[in-house]
Order: sequence, then C-alpha cells, then structure tokens
Amino acid sequence: MVIVGKIFAYWDRFMFRKIILPYMLCFVGIVSVAAEPFQGPFRSDKNNIIVVIDPAHGGSDLGVIGHSGTTEKDITLAIAKNIEVMIKDALPNIQVHLTRVGDVSLTNYIRTDMIVEKDADIFISLHSDGSMNDHTSGMFVVYYSDIEPAGYSTEAHSTDNTIDPSESILLGRTIADSIQRDLLLSEPIRIMKYPSSLLKNVIVPAIIINLGFLTNPLEESQLKLEATQKKISHAIIVALDAYYNIWALKHNQQYDNGTNWTK
Ligand SMILES: [Zn+2]
Repeated sequence: MVIVGKIFAYWDRFMFRKIILPYMLCFVGIVSVAAEPFQGPFRSDKNNIIVVIDPAHGGSDLGVIGHSGTTEKDITLAIAKNIEVMIKDALPNIQVHLTRVGDVSLTNYIRTDMIVEKDADIFISLHSDGSMNDHTSGMFVVYYSDIEPAGYSTEAHSTDNTIDPSESILLGRTIADSIQRDLLLSEPIRIMKYPSSLLKNVIVPAIIINLGFLTNPLEESQLKLEATQKKISHAIIVALDAYYNIWALKHNQQYDNGTNWTK
C-alpha cells in the first residue's frame, strides 16, 4: 500500500507540474493580458522552498571506513545536521528536512519517500567515497543516468553545446561550481552520471554529493574536523542559494530569498 500510495503521490505531482500546470498557465496566458510567469519545478510559493538532505548510510551500515576509523555514516550526518542548523540563519526561506537525524539504517525507499511526504523541491544525498588507491581524492557530484551501467562516467564540466536540460544536471553543475568557489578549490569538482538506484525514480532535481575519499588519509583527517565539516556545510548552503537564483533568472523571475549570510 505504501508503494501504491507513493506511486499515486508521484503521479499526482507529476500530472500537476508537468501536464496540468503548464496547460493552466497556457490558458491564463491566452485569456489575460499579463500572463503569470512560468513557475518551473518550484512551488509557486517561492518563500517556501523545501530541500530533503539525505545523510547516507547509518546504523549497522557504516559506509566507507577511513584508516583511522572515521565512518562515512558519521561524516554525512554531521554535515547534514550542520546544513539544517546553519541554513535557518542563512536562507530562512529554504526549509531543510533530513532523512535521518540519528544513527539508523534506512532503505532507499524510506529516504526518497520523504520527498513525497514533505512535498520537496530538491533531493540531495550526502556520501563520501572509498578507493583501493589511498591517493584517490576529491569531491564529486553525481546525477542519475541509465546509460552508463558499467560505472561512473565523467560529464564534460565546461559549458558545451549539448547541455542536458535536466534540472538535476543544472543543480549538479551549479552546486559543483559554487562549492569549488566557496572552498577555494583549484580544481573543478567533477560532475558524473551514474545509474544510482537511489536517484532512479526521483522526479525532483536530485544529486549525490560525494564529500571526499575517506580512504585517503589526508582527506579523512580533514573530513573528521568540525571546522572542515562546517566549511563544507557552508559551501553547500551557498550552492543551494546559487542554484535557486540561476533557476530564477532562467525563468525571468526576480527572487528575493532573504539571504543574510555573511562569510
Ligand atoms: Zn556512501
């Protein structure tokens, strides 16, 4: 029943946003002199943007474990909690909900159910990564694609002429660029496509942010520091603001998001 309900909930939102709403707006445009602006993926109430942040793993599912014992589940939860607290002052118009606030294991269904439950506009899952090579390092962002079943595939980072119109790619690129700027990274953050089972059926803009490699001793030592976790949380908040503003410009909307963040 839960699954059936979920399907209907998704379908209702899909129907409204993708089919009914555009026709409604078309109709309004025809019968009135000043048509309503296109509202895109966000709700018309722009003061109430809802973001689901998913701290990956939890409970008995530790995720990647660093050489000195730092676990992915702890890093992702710490950063997610930081974002939830810090965004209240920085961007009061963006509501953040976490898929977990404690050390519990969740299925992908439960994690993505929260998108429907909270009527969310954006889904971001936080992970860190691991590698057999201790030198492998760096953050990267993943969006869903079903065309690369054999592993990660790097998407061209620079602007090209074949930009996928998907809002998830726009979200991913904006967030990657914004984090790079905010953290003063010399190298661009990579954007990857991957057939993630978590993101597969998510109909709102959705990405995974990989925060770094816990198997790299240097990155592990950094990621477990509270100061680094706060820096990364800040960068993600700045990135969320950047994404919304780019989206708003794209649709010729003026948006005062009430930002009062100062670095
Ligand atoms: Zn993970």
